[in-house]
Amino acid sequence: MSVPAILWLRQDLRLEDNPALQAASSNPLIALYIWDEKDPRSPGGASRWWLHKSLYVLKQSYEERGVQFIFRRGNPLDVLKKLVDETKACSIYWNRCYEPYAIKRDQEIKSYFKEKNLLCQSFKGVLLIEPWEVHTKSKEPYRVFTPFWKSLQSSSFSRPLPTPRLQGWKTQVASESLEEWGLLPILWGKGLEQIWQPGEKQAHVKLKQFLKDKVEDYACKRDYPSENITSLLSPHLHWGEITPLQIWNCVSYAHGEKAIPFLRQLGWREFSYHLLFHFPELPSKPMRSSFVHIPWEVDLEALKAWQKGQTGYPLVDAGMRELWQTGGMHNRVRMIVASFLVKDLLLPWQLGEEWFWDTLVDADLANNAVNWQWVAGCGADAAPYYRIFNPVLQSQRFDPQGAYIKQWIPELKDLNPPHIHCPWQAPSEILHKAKVKLGVTYPFPIVDHALARKRALAAFRIVSP
Ligand SMILES: Cc1cc2nc3c(=O)[nH]c(=O)nc-3n(C[C@H](O)[C@H](O)[C@H](O)COP(=O)(O)OP(=O)(O)OC[C@H]3O[C@@H](n4cnc5c(N)ncnc54)[C@H](O)[C@@H]3O)c2cc1C
Repeated sequence: MSVPAILWLRQDLRLEDNPALQAASSNPLIALYIWDEKDPRSPGGASRWWLHKSLYVLKQSYEERGVQFIFRRGNPLDVLKKLVDETKACSIYWNRCYEPYAIKRDQEIKSYFKEKNLLCQSFKGVLLIEPWEVHTKSKEPYRVFTPFWKSLQSSSFSRPLPTPRLQGWKTQVASESLEEWGLLPILWGKGLEQIWQPGEKQAHVKLKQFLKDKVEDYACKRDYPSENITSLLSPHLHWGEITPLQIWNCVSYAHGEKAIPFLRQLGWREFSYHLLFHFPELPSKPMRSSFVHIPWEVDLEALKAWQKGQTGYPLVDAGMRELWQTGGMHNRVRMIVASFLVKDLLLPWQLGEEWFWDTLVDADLANNAVNWQWVAGCGADAAPYYRIFNPVLQSQRFDPQGAYIKQWIPELKDLNPPHIHCPWQAPSEILHKAKVKLGVTYPFPIVDHALARKRALAAFRIVSP
């Protein structure tokens, strides 16, 4: 009688271009997802919503191909031991994860099953290049993006894999139900549902739309949040519903040189994973250790105002409200709100990272931590600490008509430039006409940027070389 192979899916929720699935497919297959109760960085609220939806459609895709898809909860090693006992499976396959906890967990699982003479194989399935495949001339990990990017660009990649022919294992195996995991938030999900459609199929729909309507203008419009010109592929990439290899192939084949500014962003994703692998403490500790001495001012009221989009700086508030309502935020706006938290409010970047972790649908340990450290000035290749975004100038430059602000702050919809960027400077008759009552319908600024800038420079001087 044939024995099954176990395909353990994690951040590779797809069929196509899936090396672990390809390897497992020579046996009758059981597909498994484990809700890892030990994971210290288990998905935040918005990510859980995504995960639920994505698993729901993925299960259907596997079952349509005759493969049972099972859900189990617990410590992954215990879950796998039990499943191997139940099914007498001969092998386990997965695509690698790069979070420090996941690396340790997977190594323990591999060595446990190796001792039991059970084949356990892992694959590169979510990156273009493994973090250990590239290094500087002196064999050190990269800390600067440009040479990393050159190295990535000069690498050659294989073609993405098609979905293999699958055969399911016929004996029924017990599964928990996805619903009983309670991943869906009670109310919050409504806003997410209007914007996002998780799953492999939708990831490819988005990629096609991007190639058809957006990629040509990406370079010149990508910094303008109201243009809606970016790919919106980040949550699909995080959950592995599409691979960077698939994107790289399609984009570079169809658009050549013109696609480079977009591919460069995928390069930042690879760089973030490279950094996380080599500097595993970076989600909680600054890469530049002098930053631990910064005298932060932990003002929880200010944190709350930032989280709820009530700082009185319209572009910052628009971004934070977009995040809360949709689980997404444009990259330029992420940089502005992050700079505001760290520099204007002098709050530790880790508090911002945590909030993003809980509210972003694309929350990703590597990308989130690396970008927060970049903004704070303590990461690899980071912006210098004295570069402090002026939220009003950024607003005038990247949302000149205030279209993005009006979309997310309806109480300012009748205010126009220049006043929409700084309502507290508007003459009272203009505010009256626009039905804005500062301190009532919309807050006064919670800090004065000019003073906050001085305070930040004084606090950050401690880290100047
Ligand atoms: C403070 C802060 C926190 C962030 N947290 C996350 C996060 O948790 N998860 C996340 O995926 N991205 C994060 N980013 C990076 C970036 O903002 C998002 O990847 C991007 O906005 C997603 O939109 P998109 O898919 O339309 O991007 P596009 O512009 O279409 O880019 C294509 C892909 O490239 C990758 N990418 C783009 N910009 C970056 C970047 N700066 N760093 C790393 N990869 C990038 C993403 O995978 C993205 O989907 C963060 C940025 C900042 C400033």
